[in-house]
Amino acid sequence: MWAGEFIKNVMGTLDSRSLRELPPQIEVEVESRHEEEIFHLLPLLGPLFGCGILLFSAWDYLIDPAHAWSTFLVRLLLVLLGSIAYVPNRLQWSPVQRCGVIYGTHSCAIIISEYLLNNGFLYGLTGIAACIFVVSVITLRVRTFLLILSAPTLLFLILSAIRFPLFEFINSVMLYIFSVACAGIVMLVIRYFRLKAFSLEKKLLHISHHDSLTGAYNRGYLTELAVREIALAKRHGRALCVAMIDIDHFKSVNDTYGHAVGDETIKLLVKTCEQNLREIDHFGRIGGEEFVCILPETAESDAMLCAERLRRSIEEMRIKIPSGYLQVTASIGVAVLIQQPDWDALLKDADTALYSAKRDGRNRVVLATTCIS
Ligand code: GH3
Ligand code: MG
Ligand code: MG
Repeated sequence: MWAGEFIKNVMGTLDSRSLRELPPQIEVEVESRHEEEIFHLLPLLGPLFGCGILLFSAWDYLIDPAHAWSTFLVRLLLVLLGSIAYVPNRLQWSPVQRCGVIYGTHSCAIIISEYLLNNGFLYGLTGIAACIFVVSVITLRVRTFLLILSAPTLLFLILSAIRFPLFEFINSVMLYIFSVACAGIVMLVIRYFRLKAFSLEKKLLHISHHDSLTGAYNRGYLTELAVREIALAKRHGRALCVAMIDIDHFKSVNDTYGHAVGDETIKLLVKTCEQNLREIDHFGRIGGEEFVCILPETAESDAMLCAERLRRSIEEMRIKIPSGYLQVTASIGVAVLIQQPDWDALLKDADTALYSAKRDGRNRVVLATTCIS
């Protein structure tokens, strides 16, 4: 939408490049999330809006007492009709459809009431215009914004054309259009800040879940995932294994070639392991040169094959150093989820197996003794 693009560009010149770099699916996510949140607020906002519409009957009475009762009935009828969108029922309406029905009925209640009163359009025009701003918080999509406004706008144009002479008609239409434009700008500004907050939230979430050097999951998040996977495996009686990886003699890599080469080695190992794991596996860095793979729905034999594949691919890695290429090896301890009470116990078993692999000469995979029947 050109209006959306325009505002985005104006805002972009004021502030960050980050918004213009947002992928389109994030915009869709933010829009849907906003609508869901409004949907949850409907049982509160809907009746409040309805009460507001009914309370303005007092204004009708001040303008034209003779017709105030009939306009009160119009307001009541349309507010009750609109309330089907927020009282509990089995209608499978989307949040936007519900908001559209509420706004449509409630705003038409005002428009028809003002039409029925003597001088109602004159004194009620500001109320009709103010009502438009409700739509600016209902949605963040320009198309939906215009769609929700379409029916009440059409009604307003027809009734004010009937009620007003030409000059007053033009005046009222101009005020209406101005209100729509202002409400549209309010909606785009809300959209801008929601997108900004969302992208920041995404970044923070990524930082809190990932290791800054390698991009792999950090210990905290891996523990969260492990606890969930163990609960699922126990509940459904599915297999689960854990592999703990530690680079052999890594201290000497740092001492001989420097920390930069050490860092490159760690980064390459993460890339290599991630390429050798399935989508459903979880891989994370739990310490300096220690890593853990959670292998859901994996039995002992498959876990050993997977660990062996990882060990071999680590061995085949080539890290560029000034004099050529460096190779490293890693030791791996594997533990199978059997009777361990929790994640800590399972990890301890994998750690004990890793210790055995180190003791037995390194560059090997060892299965935890608790798992050997
Ligand atoms: P082992 O075969 O018994 O595992 O020996 P090791 O030398 O790998 O084990 P040790 O625990 O003695 O040394 C681990 C080293 O890893 C020490 C530390 O300087 C290094 N290290 C930890 N984190 C990082 C990091 O982020 N970058 C780099 N370059 N080195 C790190
Ligand atoms: Mg080590
Ligand atoms: Mg270590």
